[in-house]
Order: sequence, then structure tokens, then C-alpha cells
Amino acid sequence: MVIIEDLDRFEDPSIAYMGGTSLDRIDSAHLGMPFDAMCDPDHYRITIEGTTLRLVDALAGSLGDAITTNCPVTAVVRDGDADRYRVSTQTGETFMASSVVVAVPLNTLSRIELPASVPQAIVALAATGHVGRSRKTWMLLENVHDHFRVFAADPPFAYFRSEHDFGDGRMLAVALGPDTGHPLGAEELSAAVRKYLPEASVASSYEKDSLEDAHYRGTWFVPGPVQMASLATAPLADDRLYFAGGDLAIECFGTIEGALLTGRRAGAAAAAGQRSGGH
Ligand SMILES: Cc1cc2nc3c(=O)[nH]c(=O)nc-3n(C[C@H](O)[C@H](O)[C@H](O)COP(=O)(O)OP(=O)(O)OC[C@H]3O[C@@H](n4cnc5c(N)ncnc54)[C@H](O)[C@@H]3O)c2cc1C
Repeated sequence: MVIIEDLDRFEDPSIAYMGGTSLDRIDSAHLGMPFDAMCDPDHYRITIEGTTLRLVDALAGSLGDAITTNCPVTAVVRDGDADRYRVSTQTGETFMASSVVVAVPLNTLSRIELPASVPQAIVALAATGHVGRSRKTWMLLENVHDHFRVFAADPPFAYFRSEHDFGDGRMLAVALGPDTGHPLGAEELSAAVRKYLPEASVASSYEKDSLEDAHYRGTWFVPGPVQMASLATAPLADDRLYFAGGDLAIECFGTIEGALLTGRRAGAAAAAGQRSGGH
């Protein structure tokens, strides 16, 4: 089932779903999402079987003891004239490295001290950050027997879709909408769901506040004015310091596809010891 609540205003909710912010804050090059793609929310190129945790576990498994968590990096600087980088963390640790891949969300990048030689386009993107402010709410619904897609005309939802059918009337669903400044309460959520699925009830829900989270300070990359051009021209390397992540992938920014693409490239370049690189 696909519900497009108001075809005349279709663009507005679709952008609200993508950006969660007002249209005048978004780069105009980002506004033209193909109608076919909007009607087919499963158009993504990569689906991870199981959950994203499988990807995390696979990466962790291949790296073993080399992983350190809960120690935000505060600086990546040249170690004097030496051909190495000094990586400092908030917990006071220091790591020396011949190559570094920085893969943090764009809105946190400005908090890391970087060498003065880092490309201006990257510095400018980091200084401004992106404008994404969508809210994303996961729900376990009961009494829902068919997959559904809703393109809503009015908040709190902009886009509301089923994700996984448990086959017994329970359905995992997700809703995206513009930031309201507060998590949706149970009643508000239930009313929003019942507007489209009158028989459904919300068994449980989860909403992560990625705007408040110091490790994100925003959602996925949504370009502000002129940022598309900056992103398109930004070299993702400064000598052997590489930048990667979904937020910086011009081909498919703000997505896991972009994260994988830029991560693979940066990793390969670092391993090969290349001294320059781009997208
Ligand atoms: C609420 C939300 C929902 C999303 N939903 C989707 C989706 O459905 N599909 C999709 O494709 N994409 C989605 N995204 C975008 C998603 O973030 C990317 O697809 C994917 O996680 C990007 O991977 P990444 O490795 O680039 O960044 P992340 O997965 O964000 O990893 C960056 C890591 O850097 C860490 N970090 C931050 N600052 C520092 C620091 N100073 N030092 C060290 N580490 C630091 C963070 O803690 C985080 O672990 C969503 C994003 C958000 C916020």
C-alpha cells in the first residue's frame, strides 16, 4: 500500500523527509529527487542482511584488539617535521600513525584540530556543518498485515514505512519527519500511526536524538546552499590524511553506500601509502 497524501505538495514532504528542515536552508541541487525513486523506497543499492550490527561485527572481527572505543579524537596533527601524524584523544592518549583516515560525521569534524594544509573545501564544510534535522522514529506495530508506504502531507510524519514483516501481525516500521524539538510522545505517535493505519497499535518505539548527541550533532548529510558544489570539488585527502564517511560521499551522500565507498577508497589509498586523492 502506498499513500501519497497530497500530490500537489508532494515535493514538500519528500524534502522534509530527506532534510527535516525548511526548503530555504537546503541546496537547490538537492531538491530534485526523482518521482520513481520516491515511489520506490527500496531503491537503495545495498541491503545488509540481518542488521547493520553484522557490518560492525565483521569490521571489529577483522581488526581484533586494535580497536579503542569511547575516546573521541581531539587532534590529528603533524609530528613536527616527521613523516607521521600524532592523533590525540579526549582521554589523553596519543597514537602515532603514518596514515590517518578521519571518518567522523561532518557536524563533528570542526571539533578536531587538523593540519593547516587540509583542503579549504573540507574546512569550509566542517565549519558550516550540514543542515539535516530529520527525526527518525522506529516502531514495533501490531495488527498490521501488509507492507505500506506513506508520504504524509503534514507533520509529525513526512515519510512512514514498514520495514520488516514478522508474519504474525507485527510489523517493524520507521517514520521520518521534521524536527519538533522533542521526542514524539506515546499518544502523539499512536495518533499519527492511526491516521494511516486505523487498526494498528504501537507496541514499542525508539527515537535517537542525533542532534543532541555530541558524536553526531545532526542527522545524515543534507547540503545547505552551495555545499553541493563544495562537496563535489573537495579533495578527500591531504597527503596521507584521508577523509571518508557517508557525509562526504558526493555519489551517494548521507547513506551507508557513501560510507562504504569512501571508506574503501580511503583504506586502499592509506594501505598503498598514496600521497594524494580525491573522490
Ligand atoms: C538518525 C540517523 C538515521 C540514519 N538512517 C540511515 C539509513 O536509514 N540509511 C542510510 O544509508 N544512512 C542512514 N543514516 C546515515 C548514516 O549515518 C550513514 O549511512 C552511516 O552510518 C555512515 O557511516 P559513517 O561511517 O560515515 O558514519 P557513522 O556511522 O556516523 O560513524 C561515525 C563515527 O564517528 C564517531 N565519532 C564522532 N566524533 C568523533 C571523534 N571526535 N573521534 C572519534 N570518533 C568520533 C561517531 O561516534 C561514530 O561512531 C542515518 C543517520 C542518522 C543520524
